[in-house]
Amino acid sequence: MTANTEHARPADLPEAIRHYIGGRHVDSADGDTFDVIDPVTNEPYIRAASGKQADVAAAVAAARTAFEEGPWPRMLPRERSRILQRIADIVETRGDRLAEMESYDSGLPITQALGQARRAAENFRFFADLIVAQVDDAYKVPGRQANYVNRKPIGVAGLITPWNTPFMLESWKLAPAIATGNTVVLKPAEFTPLSASLWAGIFEEAGLPEGVFNLVNGLGETAGDALVKHPDVPLISFTGESSTGQLIFGNAAPHLKGLSMELGGKSPAVVFDDADLETAIDATIFGVFSLNGERCTAGSRILVQRGVYDEFVERYSAQASRVRVGLPSDPRTEVGALVHPEHYEKVMSYVELGKQEGRLTAGGGRPEGFETGNFVAPTVFVDVPRDARIFQEEIFGPVVAITPFDTDEEALELANDTKYGLAAYIWTNDLRRAHNFSQEVQAGMVWLNSNNVRDLRTPFGGVKASGLGHEGGYRSIDFYTDQQAVHINLGEVHNPVFGKAD
Ligand code: NAD
Repeated sequence: MTANTEHARPADLPEAIRHYIGGRHVDSADGDTFDVIDPVTNEPYIRAASGKQADVAAAVAAARTAFEEGPWPRMLPRERSRILQRIADIVETRGDRLAEMESYDSGLPITQALGQARRAAENFRFFADLIVAQVDDAYKVPGRQANYVNRKPIGVAGLITPWNTPFMLESWKLAPAIATGNTVVLKPAEFTPLSASLWAGIFEEAGLPEGVFNLVNGLGETAGDALVKHPDVPLISFTGESSTGQLIFGNAAPHLKGLSMELGGKSPAVVFDDADLETAIDATIFGVFSLNGERCTAGSRILVQRGVYDEFVERYSAQASRVRVGLPSDPRTEVGALVHPEHYEKVMSYVELGKQEGRLTAGGGRPEGFETGNFVAPTVFVDVPRDARIFQEEIFGPVVAITPFDTDEEALELANDTKYGLAAYIWTNDLRRAHNFSQEVQAGMVWLNSNNVRDLRTPFGGVKASGLGHEGGYRSIDFYTDQQAVHINLGEVHNPVFGKAD
């Protein structure tokens, strides 16, 4: 890759972003559209169809017909698996192009968008393999009874996704939902609809039958809401803010829908004084500033033991000041532009608040040379008290709060002192301390001396306000299937008889 010093529109952008319903690209029934914003210029660069109830109803009807009458749910797992492998091949081959579009639309640095596109291909490959490896439970009591489990696709799955790493997060739901034979309606985030509009072409080329994948663009309170409330959508898989999750939970309740919720976080990175400091600094810098800090598992609260606190703060702040902010399309860029001016204002308001709640040691505003666009200098606040809002609330940008602690007990108490419980990162060379801390920390995922490298077989999810249920490996297969137990009498089971007594 060569350095890009100019912000250029990707070649062959579509003219507009439309819905994709029953194998056709269509506009909204009422013709309504909304502007999509380029995060570098904050100018609208394309219009997207704004779906409402009628569009969602059409998409759900198409998905339902494909489920009830189409070949997809009836195909053998290995036949579906072959199509998923083809999807992975196409995503891999088009990785550069997808990353270019994603980076332009979301402001993510191009190299990181490329990594996310590769991960999206891996997600399809992983579930393509898993669906053929799946061995259903069968139990036999010789001569008496046999039991087996029928795993059935459930129907139309509603997938609602956020704007951070949109293409990858969509793949994380699409792959298991369709691998298991369901049909889907995807409602991507309104800030970043561009990469989602590329799925239709990829699926068509891979041979996915018509109606299995449907896409409705639009706002959360119209298109998203209609999908959650639609009676023919028995499953909702949602990733987004905790407050939106609460709303969806309530709206899905009258239909008793299956719900999977991946929500917000304010994850602690705990650095004990016996940690390898250089590695801990490198990793905790990456952990909060990669993906522009727009990462649900960002280690955005760093708790550092008093013995190494001053040294950590000094070295961390110096290194954070050197993190390279730049145009998303420049391969040297480490932090690009935040997704949208509304989000930029929110992050900036926390930066201003942080100046009262903590001590600023790096960043604190726009980086030099960036007079327009959603650019925020990597920002470090230290000596942040536990009741500060920048310690408690999810900022979702390149802003970190650092707080000292003395004992393991205090570290644990601080780590658990938020409403969230998504991830925790622990830096220590003491194995016993690491495992004891992991047992007690309220987090769905713990990384020991590691960044958030993750095997796709492991469960992904949070506790407390960070989520409900898990995605990943067989947990996804379980979510997207009904498991029906069948019990067969082999002739030796005595069936009690009523009503024949003398
Ligand atoms: P958001 O909750 O604002 O929106 C997410 C999606 O929900 C969008 O598609 C939106 O249109 C839709 N939506 C909004 N209101 C709705 C409603 N009433 N009914 C149905 N759908 C509705 O979240 P966001 O700002 O797009 O994403 C950032 C958030 O996502 C952060 O909190 C982040 O931590 C979280 N996140 C969590 C994970 C995870 O795996 N835990 C991963 C990525 C992002």
